[in-house]
Amino acid sequence: METNINTGLLKENLKILQNSRSWSDGLVDKLEEFISNSDDYDLFRVNPLRFSIENDISESDGIDLFLWASKLNLFEMNWELLCPACGDHIQSFRHLNTMQDKIFCSLCQCEQIAALDDWIQATFTINSKIRHIRFHQPENLSINEFIFQYHFTRDAKAYEGGPEKSRLLGSVTKDTAFIARLEKKTFEFDLQDGLLIIYDFLNNRGLNLMISPEISIDGQAVDITYVKNDFEINQPQINSGRVKFTVENKSDSRLALGLFLIPSEIVANMDEDATVIMDPYLDGKKLLTSQTFRDLFRNELIQGNEGINVKDLTVLFTDLKGSTELYDRVGDLKAFNLVNQHFESLAKVIVRNRGAIVKTIGDAVMATFANPLDSVKAATEIVEDLNQFNRQHGGENIIIKIGIHKGSSIAVTLNDRLDYFGQTVNVAARVQGLADAEEIYITDSVYEIEEIQDKISGYTIIPERAKLKGIQEEMDVYKVLIGNSQSTMSI
Ligand SMILES: [Zn+2]
Repeated sequence: METNINTGLLKENLKILQNSRSWSDGLVDKLEEFISNSDDYDLFRVNPLRFSIENDISESDGIDLFLWASKLNLFEMNWELLCPACGDHIQSFRHLNTMQDKIFCSLCQCEQIAALDDWIQATFTINSKIRHIRFHQPENLSINEFIFQYHFTRDAKAYEGGPEKSRLLGSVTKDTAFIARLEKKTFEFDLQDGLLIIYDFLNNRGLNLMISPEISIDGQAVDITYVKNDFEINQPQINSGRVKFTVENKSDSRLALGLFLIPSEIVANMDEDATVIMDPYLDGKKLLTSQTFRDLFRNELIQGNEGINVKDLTVLFTDLKGSTELYDRVGDLKAFNLVNQHFESLAKVIVRNRGAIVKTIGDAVMATFANPLDSVKAATEIVEDLNQFNRQHGGENIIIKIGIHKGSSIAVTLNDRLDYFGQTVNVAARVQGLADAEEIYITDSVYEIEEIQDKISGYTIIPERAKLKGIQEEMDVYKVLIGNSQSTMSI
């Protein structure tokens, strides 16, 4: 295969990558193989979750690999805003601070506000200094590459288990072509009853024409002019049968035209609210709840005061303290060191369970998780670790109190750090306040998840109604006594 690889630079950067942290065996070699032998298209907007599945590695290894590879300039990370209805890349952003969350797709007239966990995708494209691919210069792509590969994400399926959305679009395509400025092109084909969409993928303008079931035998000639950023047509009524379109581009820019005929039976059954089904992808929430991302890309911040919505975020608060007994017994300095020692192990447990520490406030820690089950696993491990630690050091040395809640939140930049804002965060902090030593408090929104009930079924669970400070309504909360079974056993 003919490729444009800077082998020296690739080897050099891979060596740095290999030494940057410990990787599972052969992982960096897999990346080298991927960079060296893939098609141009496969190295464009790489989905690290797809890479993980194809290479039989864990999702978090895959994400970390591409984050490190981007940090070392092997890849470039982009934030993509996707159209929920068609999977078109509405806009790409190099950095989070330039990203906006308003989706408008002129192809499907879809209008929506994106959330970090909804239609915002992080992708990785090979750096042109490492290997040049055709997609680095979209202006040089063929028309079909430009429409079906550059525009539409391959991660979007038309329906569950269905074909790629762009393939489905391919199957209703009558013709495609670039039309240079001041150029005229003709397209001739048979039409049937349905909706003909003539769409320009460079300026994002379209023309929708209903084709009547009546058949014209003589053939029809339709003139279309693209002028002043819009299409003008000489004939509003088009019948089924042979049609010759002449499209004249009277604008200053090139057009990338696609002509699609959606059959009337599909038009009749079209659900306006239907969305594409996405293969697992790295959404903004997963990225922001990755400790590696937070460590490596500290300057990736959200701009402005409004922040970006997260539909469903799990927030865990802990409060870790040396007990009075410990301070009495060993003195302040030693107690402080013991607490710090355990603080480090707490951070490791959070990262191991795919969470990220947002901040520490005194002895308290705020962490976020994309998956609520991971937060509960982390919480139980933290308490169990602590019990073991206390047993080793003879007595109740360190106390931990944990609270978990999940819900919507707003990701914002506060004090030069990615942080979260909103009632979900307040509630999580308040339920943590209810906890005593070796107790986890979880709210109803966390408890109602079946896998979580399975996970905590071995512990004593006490349901309560709680009035939390600053929260108007009483809430259903659950006290999980993690420490109890352990301490009983140790007596
Ligand atoms: Zn769309």
